[in-house]
Amino acid sequence: MYDLNKIKPLPEDFKNWIESQLPPEPIFFKNHKGYSDLLCGHCGERSTIYLEDGMEDIFDIPWEKPERNKSAVCPLCNYEGYYEIGQVTAEHRNYEYFVLVQQDTDGNLVSRCFEVLQAWKKGLEANHEVIELERYVQSPGKLIKLRHERNWYSGETYWNELKNGHMSFSQRATLYEEGPGYDFKEEIKTSNLPYYEPNLYFDIFNEWGYESEYAYQVLKSLAIYANAPWSESFAKMGWTNVIKNVMWKDGSTALLNKRGKTLKSQLRLKKGENVRKFQDYMKIKPEKWYRVLEILQLSERRKRSFSQEEFDLLMSLYQIKDADEPLKYMTLTQLVNRLKEYKAQKEKAEKRIYAETTILTEYSDYLKLRRQLGYDMTNEVFIHPKDLHKKHQDLIKEQQMRRDSERAAQMEKQYDGMVKAYEMLCKKYCYEAAGFIIRPAKCPTELIRESQALHHCVGSSDTYMRKHATGTSYILFLRKKETPDVPFTTIEISGVKEKEPRILQWYEAYDKKPDEQILQPIIDKYVEHLKKGTKKPGKRAKAS
Ligand SMILES: [Zn+2]
Repeated sequence: MYDLNKIKPLPEDFKNWIESQLPPEPIFFKNHKGYSDLLCGHCGERSTIYLEDGMEDIFDIPWEKPERNKSAVCPLCNYEGYYEIGQVTAEHRNYEYFVLVQQDTDGNLVSRCFEVLQAWKKGLEANHEVIELERYVQSPGKLIKLRHERNWYSGETYWNELKNGHMSFSQRATLYEEGPGYDFKEEIKTSNLPYYEPNLYFDIFNEWGYESEYAYQVLKSLAIYANAPWSESFAKMGWTNVIKNVMWKDGSTALLNKRGKTLKSQLRLKKGENVRKFQDYMKIKPEKWYRVLEILQLSERRKRSFSQEEFDLLMSLYQIKDADEPLKYMTLTQLVNRLKEYKAQKEKAEKRIYAETTILTEYSDYLKLRRQLGYDMTNEVFIHPKDLHKKHQDLIKEQQMRRDSERAAQMEKQYDGMVKAYEMLCKKYCYEAAGFIIRPAKCPTELIRESQALHHCVGSSDTYMRKHATGTSYILFLRKKETPDVPFTTIEISGVKEKEPRILQWYEAYDKKPDEQILQPIIDKYVEHLKKGTKKPGKRAKAS
């Protein structure tokens, strides 16, 4: 956490400077014969000025007759504004933005971003509310972002250090460049980032189409300069594409090493020949820098060099990451041949065209699943399946089943109250009528199965299991008498807390009720039956 005590006080005339930068406020007028009534929008006070034809004392200097939008001075507070007609009564609110770049006590550069709310209304004193919104602390190789936030309960404000998230400050801001005891250029020269040039990336900004003020460009470029030390030399080499791509992330990218001292280490490469290859590509296809660097890093990670043909193929892929998994088990040529084979297979089966990258994504995901599920990855049958799509689907199912059984085991343990309560609940809730049976759920596993079979939510979260185990509400299964093991309809009924049983919800598959006309009367009768049961005093005494 950044120590806020390192922030220095504001330059002495900074607040006055902000005031001087704000757009003028109005002085309202009403003209009469020989005089005008004024109401100052700045100090909020009323006054009267006398015009030439209303002068009583010929030695007084008459005021000029007020005219809308002409410059005006308040005779009371001497504020210089402009004339506005008295009929204007709407409240006016205007936001202005300012930036101050200042060293902290360690010599690091802090960009301080201010928002000023300028509000005025006829008859009131104008209000200027200055809030410091953001601070960017910049040292070589490091950018700390702080945002001023408010706790809405206590009303306290505090500085929050942002782990990610980029600059949100207004692009329409003004930079404080000089004043007594402060000079922007001197502040930089004597800081820990003395070689920062405000116009280092301006060409890129312009090309990028940033329609921002100088202050915002300084803010952004200083952040990139500090956070991405490689960017300075890259800019000088003309590798502007790289900088453009990381600009929106304020200079952060995992592809480059910001602690690297040499070009090789900045590019996260180990071999000189790969650095040269990258440099060559930057001459012909600078816009592809990201892909080229990804491939070079991949080739070093997988310890193999790619032929030009292989390189070109990788360049055409949508996701280099997808090639990472397959290349653990095969050569690139093998991969290419297999992709062709799977592509032809899938297209034949589904009678439509597929892009190679789609096939690669599936193949990569398939291999990853195989590995994660613990299969022998030296077995050619697993590495190179005959029917990729089917085997992929099988693995997805297998993974789902494993997850389900793990979850079921956990739920059984957690909600063993369900199992314990089953026999007792049976006595009260079991029912049979018109070819249907109703019974409580026996255990969490059963509930999960019911939910999967009928595609509804009772088993997907453990809410219903918890309610069932604690008696808040119970899950009942309504099934056809001749197929008592086949899930059909699921009912949630009120639990021990309610005096009379009440159906909370019931659904057939997919949370629908196609057989409502048949089932609703049965469920109604069932509730009646339960009510009779609860009203019998004798039975109740027995149960307790
Ligand atoms: Zn005034």
